[in-house]
Amino acid sequence: MTNRVVVAGGGASGLVAAVFAAENGAKVTIIEHKDRVGRKILMTGNGRCNLTNMSDVRGKYYSSDEDSLGRIYDTLVRFDAIRTRDFFKGLGLYTKEKKDGGVYPVSEQASIVLDVLRSACVRLGVRIRTDCEITAVRPAKTGGGTISVTQYIRVDNEQKKQDNKMRLKKEEIEYDQFILAAGGKAASVSGSDGSGYELAKRLGHSIVEPLPALVQLKCEGSFFKALSGVRAQSRVRLLIDGKEAASEEGELQLTDYGISGIPVFQFSRLASRAIYEGKRCEAGINFISYIEEADHVILDKSMDDNIKDFSYKTVEEFLSGLVHKKVAAVICRQNGIASGATVGQTDSRKLRDCIRMLADFRVRITAPNSFENAQVCCGGIPLGEVNENFMSRKCSNIYIVGELLDCDGICGGYNLQWAWATGAIAGTDAALQGDRV
Ligand SMILES: Cc1cc2nc3c(=O)[nH]c(=O)nc-3n(C[C@H](O)[C@H](O)[C@H](O)COP(=O)(O)OP(=O)(O)OC[C@H]3O[C@@H](n4cnc5c(N)ncnc54)[C@H](O)[C@@H]3O)c2cc1C
Repeated sequence: MTNRVVVAGGGASGLVAAVFAAENGAKVTIIEHKDRVGRKILMTGNGRCNLTNMSDVRGKYYSSDEDSLGRIYDTLVRFDAIRTRDFFKGLGLYTKEKKDGGVYPVSEQASIVLDVLRSACVRLGVRIRTDCEITAVRPAKTGGGTISVTQYIRVDNEQKKQDNKMRLKKEEIEYDQFILAAGGKAASVSGSDGSGYELAKRLGHSIVEPLPALVQLKCEGSFFKALSGVRAQSRVRLLIDGKEAASEEGELQLTDYGISGIPVFQFSRLASRAIYEGKRCEAGINFISYIEEADHVILDKSMDDNIKDFSYKTVEEFLSGLVHKKVAAVICRQNGIASGATVGQTDSRKLRDCIRMLADFRVRITAPNSFENAQVCCGGIPLGEVNENFMSRKCSNIYIVGELLDCDGICGGYNLQWAWATGAIAGTDAALQGDRV
């Protein structure tokens, strides 16, 4: 008998789960509550979609439960970046690898990734139902189950969800296997509004509090207004309760509320969790990381020469030879040096303090930016609550995949790789369940 697989959510993991389930003989339906599938895929990689990464996956993923890391790596060995590229090549999409191992479609268009997934669904007879909200999932004792769905009917091509007069159609859909692929809470404009966590909770799952990750960090300090717009190649350290928790090099971006850019994104999930747990978080910014640490001593020792050679310059001008002018101005102010003060007029200890601050500018991190600005969530459903094929240990015939699970990767294509891998493994297993009966 053909296995009926229902997939909740037509995002990265749901679309791939549907393709693999259909390829393995299942009759598949995707239930998507937005007006179209794959909205988030279109946003990825600034519209270019960094769809995977060829580098070693070790150290690139996090989970609240460190014991789950082995499970994550096993999954990514079973369905690795090479399988992802082969899968897309099989759909007619060629990819290219960049220097950092990041893989993109050759055309660097995220829309083509969605196009090939949608056309694979059409070819395989996957039914895509959009504007459909899942209101309940009822597993049957005998296996399989039923979901309650409310469909929002469009009137004059307009989404009438907000309109009291909107037309609603309620129906019950039976499934043999149900795949929950509703994503997390990040960028809810794309459809991932956190409702997947609620559905999982109602099925008996626990949830590690989801928090924003791969996100900008808000910091204390009125001077940020003056620093807004600065981009600087820097080393940025994250200090949690005074101890170094992470250190990243890259282009730091300063905003009017705090810090952003790839180095900040990479450790933002650690900061999010630490702040949630009430710990003190600071960033230590080294604006002069291009100068070897050993040479800082030389810089310090040569200060007397500098003072002699550049005594005619203002301190701001002098520091601007090392860092962005806006940073130089803020550092002068932080050290009580007036804007017109020259090197010659300034106490050499104060000048040395300025240089030290260039190498370790401390700011207090107060909060992550909102879920809306985050690329992913950290937290979610513990990996211990699903088996190696992502079937729930709480409810048989129900699978949980993608970002809903307590696994998040750093920037660079690792999160989509997790979505493709979990979707492919669960989709295949769900389709084959019928054969095993
Ligand atoms: C701006 C941005 C850029 C990114 N860039 C990259 C990148 O370049 N590389 C990378 O690896 N990762 C990137 N990511 C992360 C990546 O997009 C996600 O990790 C990935 O999309 C998660 O896949 P998913 O299938 O779990 O969830 P999603 O892709 O979020 O899909 C979930 C789907 O489920 C639907 N849904 C939710 N609730 C329900 C419900 N109750 N009923 C029915 N449908 C529902 C949603 O509408 C959505 O279509 C980026 C994220 C953002 C926001």
